[in-house]
Parts: sequence; C-alpha cells; structure tokens
Amino acid sequence: MPISTANFYTVNHSNHPIKTIGILGGGQLGLMLAESALPLGLRCTFLEDAPNCPARLLGKVYSSEQLDDFAKVCDIYSLEFENTPLNSAKFLEENTGLFPPSKALFIAQDRLNEKNLFNELDIKTVPFLAVNSRDELQTACENLGLPLVLKTTRGGYDGKGQFVIKNDEQIDTAWAELGDATKTAPLIAEGFINFSREVSIIAVRSKTGEIRYYPLVENEHYNGILTKTTAPAPNAEHLTAQAQSNIKKLLEHLDYVGVLTLELFVTDDGLIANEIAPRVHNSGHWSIEGAVCSQFENHMRAVAGLPLGDTSVVKPSVMLNVIGQYPSMADILALDGVHYHGYDKEERTGRKIAHITIMPTDTEKLDETVTKVVELLPNKMGL
Ligand code: AMP
Repeated sequence: MPISTANFYTVNHSNHPIKTIGILGGGQLGLMLAESALPLGLRCTFLEDAPNCPARLLGKVYSSEQLDDFAKVCDIYSLEFENTPLNSAKFLEENTGLFPPSKALFIAQDRLNEKNLFNELDIKTVPFLAVNSRDELQTACENLGLPLVLKTTRGGYDGKGQFVIKNDEQIDTAWAELGDATKTAPLIAEGFINFSREVSIIAVRSKTGEIRYYPLVENEHYNGILTKTTAPAPNAEHLTAQAQSNIKKLLEHLDYVGVLTLELFVTDDGLIANEIAPRVHNSGHWSIEGAVCSQFENHMRAVAGLPLGDTSVVKPSVMLNVIGQYPSMADILALDGVHYHGYDKEERTGRKIAHITIMPTDTEKLDETVTKVVELLPNKMGL
C-alpha cells in the first residue's frame, strides 16, 4: 500500500520558506528526488497521468486534468520528465517559477533545437540536416554519406524513433518507418559517429550561478537502453575540461537552475555532444551512494535555493539497471558493497524497474562483484 501522503501537507516543520516542490512527471526519478528531499524538510507532489507511478510512494499525484489544483499546493516547480507540454510548463513558470526554466525544455524537446544550440555555443556536435520529405532524406544521405542515423526530432527515448540507414536500399524502409512523424515535426539525419565509448557529464547550477560538476561517467547501452554506468569513467581525465566547458556554456546560456546532463561520444578528435537531458539522469544514479551529495539532493538544493553539496566521489562504483525482470533482492544484497533500489514497477520487457550500485569496501573487488551481480540478473541485456 502506498504511504499516506496526507501528513506531508498538514505538518511540515521546516524553517525554510520553500516547502512543497511540484514535480512534472512521477517516474522513478521523481521517487528518488522525493527521497532526497525528505531530510531537507522539502515535500514533493507530482503531475503525472499514470496513477500507479513510482513517485506515488512519497507524494500526492495529480493528473494533468488537475493542473490548477496541483498549482495551488506547490511553492515552486521542477521536473523529472522533459516532454511535459510546453504550455503547462510555461503556465507554472509564470505562476511561481519553474526550475529548470521552460526554455531548457524547448531545447531538450527537439533534437534540431538542441543541435542548433550546440552549434551556436561552439559545442562540437554531429553533422546533421533537417528532413521534411523523402526527397530531403535522399539529399541528406548524399550530403552526409552512409551510414547515417535518422531520428524523430521529438518524443524519442531509449533508442526509440531511430533508424540506422546503412545502404541505399534501406532509405525507403527508413522513410516508411519514420516518415509519418514529419506530419508534426521534421526528422533529423545525423552523420554516423564511430565513437570509441559513450560518456556523460552531470552538473548542477544554483540560483546564485554557482556550478558544481560530477565526474565524467562511462555508459553502456543495449538496444538503445542504458545498462551500465562506470563512475568515474576510466581514463577520462583528459576529456574532463572539454566536458565541463561544454556543460558550463549550456547552463549559463539557459540561465539554468538544477541538474543538467550532457551525453557525449568519445572520438579520436575529442568529445562530440549527442544530447542533453534537463533533469537528473539514469547515468547519475550511482551518486546516491557513490558521491558525497547525490544528483537528486543537489537538484533539490538548487531548486529550493539552498547551497549546493559536494559532488566528489566517495568510492569508484558501477551502476547496473535492472530491466524487465526482478532478480532475487536477497541474493544481490548478500554481496559486499551492493545497494539495491527498486522502483515498485510491474515487470515488463525493456522497462527499467530497479537499479543496483556496486561499490565494494575493497575497490580492487569492483569488477569481480559486478560479474557476480550480472550473474544474478535474469535479463543480462548484453552485459
Ligand atoms: P540517442 O537517443 O540520441 O541518445 O541515441 C541512442 C543511442 O544510439 C546512443 O546512445 C548511441 O549509442 C546511438 N547513436 C545515436 N546517435 C548516433 C550517431 N549520430 N552516430 C552513432 N551512434 C549514434
């Protein structure tokens, strides 16, 4: 049974003026934000149409039809899901303030806006072209060369809405699969990057403009879904300055408050920006145990106008996503230095339902413990 949320709104003895934070979205990111908010005397409430969402465990959930009621109970707003309709975001922003600002959503909701901003800020990104028709797709294939990645500009996640065109014969198939999306927005054709690895950087900016960076982490995907994050990314010190400079430009340009994530490809020529997420991110879950102050707590601190916390690493760690099916939690927890976070979601193919952070007392045993955890996962997702 979900915890009763009634007391959250009747008793809150915090002496900080901001007490209730309205979060757009109610998934596991919302749940973990609310967890980190509780000790700070901050309470979260959620705007989410799925009543069974993970965040229901720690805060009241309002449907989008209840936007006005939601707006009345919150001191300020934030988000854990960037595809909230821009109009609702702007309404709340004008009401008492949305952190991050809606212009960050405007950018992150559309891959073309994102890539154009990277160019404007001199952040190296993939070569790309907008595609509005079958003819324009042909032109893009000729100009960018094959292979290329054709993507919907809006609404794609976990590798959905993408087609890698490897040869001329696949152009028609790709158009048949994705062309329909051009009725609402153009597609984007991106040059295919032969990267050696994928990394991300998470940073947080306060209301006073202070910025703190988490270390670069390395990410592994299976069928477009994040499966593993290694924190910090091994042998990445030489990439840190470029990653920090990139994300700093974005944070300052957007007058951003809160946690921002930038996903990057590592190539022989340095880092190439892929996309941003204007929120806490799956590649930062390790920070709950692995950093002095987690991405979730730092986001809450920033949004509530509190001082930021230390982003230093406590100990190297690896985070594994549990996808589709739950393992035996008892077997996982029997291993030294292993932390389990379930999201109270139904099992479903391809769905992120929990994550595990591995940081054994003896750091030398990290790889060995990761192997033991992987053996216990019913769904290994290529690990
Ligand atoms: P995205 O939704 O843009 O994060 O893409 C999902 C995954 O597809 C990325 O994590 C990469 O592994 C791969 N990918 C995306 N864009 C490209 C690209 N332009 N070149 C090569 N691989 C890509």
